[in-house]
Amino acid sequence: MEIVRLHLSVIHSLNHIPVHGFVIKHPSVGAILVDTGVGYPEELVREWKVVNRHVADALAEHDLSPADVRIVVNTHLHFDHCGQNAVFKHAPFYVQRAELDRARKENSITNQWFDFAGAKYELLDGDAEIAEGVRAVATPGHTVGHQSVIVESDEGDAVMIGDAAYTARIYEQGDQADLRQWRGQYSDRESWSRSLNALHDMHPHTVHFCHDTRIAGQHS
Ligand SMILES: [Zn+2]
Repeated sequence: MEIVRLHLSVIHSLNHIPVHGFVIKHPSVGAILVDTGVGYPEELVREWKVVNRHVADALAEHDLSPADVRIVVNTHLHFDHCGQNAVFKHAPFYVQRAELDRARKENSITNQWFDFAGAKYELLDGDAEIAEGVRAVATPGHTVGHQSVIVESDEGDAVMIGDAAYTARIYEQGDQADLRQWRGQYSDRESWSRSLNALHDMHPHTVHFCHDTRIAGQHS
């Protein structure tokens, strides 16, 4: 299954990190989109100094359109991961139930980005299959209902890690990583390290990051 990385934004207020979404080209389901980037226009975009793009433009670079997207998976519901969900009103949103509960309680400004009238949720309680060869694994710690997406292939698993680690270096260093520059990497340190260890234990072939262009583990 081909995995296409979308370049959606740059967040200048947090170490100039990029914001990526990912399209999984599934042979029977069609395009599965993991995360939809930052919404706009909002105060948040100014506050975080975001240079933003429309997800439709990012898809068009790869000869895809929003209508091609059959399923949306949100790794979590922070502002840089669910901002353009409304572009995909026709698709179900696969979200951990714990995450939707958290976001509804906490994120009043961004709620309209994901919790619009008619939003169709597919609420998950832990690990779940999304389509043949594609599954969600609960990786709490960044947020209580964070999840990562695993795509199986002959070479091994590809992980779309979400914000379980912001960067390849944080992923590789795990608990030892210097997080002083990385506010918000975890909301609960203990479950964050446990999730990261669980991902390491899966020995993925490749790990893709929302906020780092480096791909980890690309040695055989
Ligand atoms: Zn993020």
